[in-house]
Amino acid sequence: MSEGALGMIVFCTITLVISAGAHTKIRDYVVASVVAAPISCALFILAAYLQLGYLDPFFPIIFMFGSCYALGIAFIVGIPFRLGRRKHPPGHCQRCGYNLTGNTSGTCPECGAQSA
Ligand SMILES: [Zn+2]
Repeated sequence: MSEGALGMIVFCTITLVISAGAHTKIRDYVVASVVAAPISCALFILAAYLQLGYLDPFFPIIFMFGSCYALGIAFIVGIPFRLGRRKHPPGHCQRCGYNLTGNTSGTCPECGAQSA
């Protein structure tokens, strides 16, 4: 396997792990992605430094471009977290989360949404 391909796999793995962690800890989708991207890229450069034994002279450029790629990955990783967070438990209004136990009208009294 070429060093470039290995580097991409390591980069993607680091970004996936950091992004998943950020989206778990930080509720805001955009903030979590923006926080995860530079951290992932910095860790990748650190990993490359430990592997190679020297710091690539182009590391500021790698950091800038890498952060953009990492941001894209972080946004994609965050989608299921964002969708999952919107769901309210069964028996609750899926729009606002109001407890619909005993509600027979099929309409949420809090927000007016129709419950299935
Ligand atoms: Zn509601």
